[in-house]
Amino acid sequence: MTATGRAAVATGADQPIELREYPVPALAADEILVRTTVAGLCGSDLHIWRGEVPPLQPYPSVPGHEGTGRVVALGKGRQHDTLGRPLAVGDRVAYSYFVPCGECWLCLSGTTGCPNRYQFKAHVRADDPPHFLGTYAEYMLLHPGQWVFKVPDGIPDDLLAPVNCALSQVIYGLHRIGIWLGDTVVVQGAGGLGLYTAAVARDMGAGQVVSIDAIPQRLDLARDFGADLTLNVAETTKEERVEAVWELTGGVGADVCVEVVGVPGVMQEGLELLRPGGRYLMMGNIVPDVSTDIIPHDAVRRPKQLLGVLSYDRWVLPRALTWLAGAQHRYPLDRLVSRRYPLEQINTAFTDAEWAAQRGEVARILIEP
Ligand SMILES: [Zn+2]
Ligand SMILES: [Zn+2]
Repeated sequence: MTATGRAAVATGADQPIELREYPVPALAADEILVRTTVAGLCGSDLHIWRGEVPPLQPYPSVPGHEGTGRVVALGKGRQHDTLGRPLAVGDRVAYSYFVPCGECWLCLSGTTGCPNRYQFKAHVRADDPPHFLGTYAEYMLLHPGQWVFKVPDGIPDDLLAPVNCALSQVIYGLHRIGIWLGDTVVVQGAGGLGLYTAAVARDMGAGQVVSIDAIPQRLDLARDFGADLTLNVAETTKEERVEAVWELTGGVGADVCVEVVGVPGVMQEGLELLRPGGRYLMMGNIVPDVSTDIIPHDAVRRPKQLLGVLSYDRWVLPRALTWLAGAQHRYPLDRLVSRRYPLEQINTAFTDAEWAAQRGEVARILIEP
């Protein structure tokens, strides 16, 4: 008898998610099969579910891209992780949720966001083998070329769930924009990405971190993640916030501003609170066709670098894991994850995530397949 596993299956945008049972796939030589222990519910999963961004896979499909698990089977040609360390059945692993092709103009130019990075699943429906291509399922099949790294001992699974998306995104973005020792870094948004940004920027050498959000509880948490100053958009005007940042920097302006709030309208404020020569990193606005007005002068006559960053490079994941191992003792990372749902309650998990997002809760919802 073939072994089977359960998977959550999305049948269409804004439709209830179903549970289906599929045979566990036989492995090709370069594949790895992982038993997912915990999966994260990310903002982009909500956007996809609501139909706001194009899905990565045709319906019906198994959603979920954040997660971690243990190796249950290794293909003959896949006995090591991406750093060449031996992998064995039972090892905990973290992996990228995309597979850059390595052969397009972007890949050859060293740019992330390869247009073919979801090719391995872009045409696969959930009912067709190998079925298990999302983290909201008991199993996850890792493809040839999909980066996979052994997880160091001592990091709880819960902290690992967002490592391959939110945390790696933040680490790569901050690397690209560059943090100088002593920089003043303003973070627009104190959700999961914003809190990671505060802590990682601090650990990369930021001298001062300013966190901006509309929810007092998030701003309290931001202080525990390294923010020296918090500004509540519900209680201050844009002019007051810009002035507060200028005052904090002796009339100079911030060195770096990071947009991780996903609200287009914050961009002009970012330009105004940056110093001439300041750097603006944009990672939050992933929904297409929403616009905002900016005053280009503020980026030219008071010059700025503007950088949008999508996904990350292969070196990021192992460093993210190393960072987590130490940072979990310095920052309350466990407060980023709270509620957990079994796979059969995935619809409740999505509805609750929607509510939690509206209420401004930070805690990520976890699914335990
Ligand atoms: Zn994500
Ligand atoms: Zn490519």
